[in-house]
Amino acid sequence: MDFNLTTEQRQIYEYGGKLAQKYDNAYWLEHARRHAFPKELFRQIADDGFLGIMVPEEYGGAGLGMTEMALLMEGMANHGIPLLMLVVGPCMSLAHLAAHGTEFHKKELLPAACRGDIQFCFAITEPNAGSNSIRIETVAKPNGNRFSLTGQKTFITGADLADYCLVVARTKPHDEVARKTDGFTLFAVDLKAKGIEKQRVRVSIPVPEEQWTLYFDEVDLGPEDIVGEINDGFSILFDSLNPERIMVGAMCCGLGRFALGKGAAYASQRSVFGQPIGAHQGVQHPMAKAHVAVETASLMTRRAAWEFDNGLPAGGSANMAKYAAAEAAIEAVDAALQAHGGAGFTEDTGLYELYPLVRLLRTAPVNRELCLSFIGEKLLGMPRSY
Ligand SMILES: Cc1cc2nc3c(=O)[nH]c(=O)nc-3n(C[C@H](O)[C@H](O)[C@H](O)COP(=O)(O)OP(=O)(O)OC[C@H]3O[C@@H](n4cnc5c(N)ncnc54)[C@H](O)[C@@H]3O)c2cc1C
Repeated sequence: MDFNLTTEQRQIYEYGGKLAQKYDNAYWLEHARRHAFPKELFRQIADDGFLGIMVPEEYGGAGLGMTEMALLMEGMANHGIPLLMLVVGPCMSLAHLAAHGTEFHKKELLPAACRGDIQFCFAITEPNAGSNSIRIETVAKPNGNRFSLTGQKTFITGADLADYCLVVARTKPHDEVARKTDGFTLFAVDLKAKGIEKQRVRVSIPVPEEQWTLYFDEVDLGPEDIVGEINDGFSILFDSLNPERIMVGAMCCGLGRFALGKGAAYASQRSVFGQPIGAHQGVQHPMAKAHVAVETASLMTRRAAWEFDNGLPAGGSANMAKYAAAEAAIEAVDAALQAHGGAGFTEDTGLYELYPLVRLLRTAPVNRELCLSFIGEKLLGMPRSY
């Protein structure tokens, strides 16, 4: 769908289709099954100049915004070739560094990342804190103008592929701050630094990127590694987390469309009881309903991106987009699967293997319940539930 797009935005949205002529869903799925990163696909995206979509031109990027980033993702997912590394790197980390990073980040790291020579991942989740990010325990202990980072982060996507990780840490203990959101600082951590180890978390989702637990043991950080203000990291955190929700919304809408495209095509040609199964309302309506849900979620995703690009509070729309899109994608994959009958579960069709990914996106990066709590509290004005 190219409702209300500029020519450039339409080209970005359609880029996924061009990519898929060479790197199609079969290529993506073959990598996803092995948890192998599709390096040629990523290199192509880098060479075509799309990694730095949200990075200003002076630092090697295209100087565009969240809208274009989400269009890139949605266009790729429309063809069944989404990449989580585009969420955690170019969207969550590069844009953040461009807005809040040091001269070192902007002049050294961003141009290399825009070229695809280095990658970024993003780490907030911890085993003990879970969704309650306020309770994270990873500490960057100040020592003069340096910091010593100790703690662990888990489920970190692409920590093996990334050279740097944007890490959310405490620089003041929980019980020493006036407001519970004070005392956080963001750091761009060189994953080759002394004191960092990682362990694979085996996740049973066919997806190219793997997840890792990162262990930090007195990792030395300097002023050049700080992103934003010391102790005020929370105030800029949502410049990463809202874009993440919007990107995931875009990914879900694309994957929903991809599944429905397969489902509708199959239901139109598969004949049992003397007519195509797609002629039965019992087959048609679930896919039609899912189509409505996907297209509606896509509009909300565009609204959230537009709000973000225009400096408006985007939290409400970003949560609604992520919630609606994940639910729509699950509905779409399920409806397309049902239409396929037994064929939906074959490796040749590759449809069932999309289900774990869209189902993940109901739970991560922010779970369905927290999206609804945000909407209930912030948009409907009801009391806080957590
Ligand atoms: C494949 C994968 C990739 C990931 N990639 C990254 C990454 O790159 N970087 C990163 O930092 N993290 C990453 N994560 C972590 C992910 O963001 C978290 O798993 C997610 O936010 C949920 O946190 P949790 O697992 O600790 O669940 P918990 O916080 O333990 O919650 C468990 C369940 O309890 C319910 N729940 C929790 N709180 C409430 C509440 N207040 N009200 C109602 N219900 C509630 C929800 O249903 C939730 O699903 C990834 C996770 C996975 C599985």
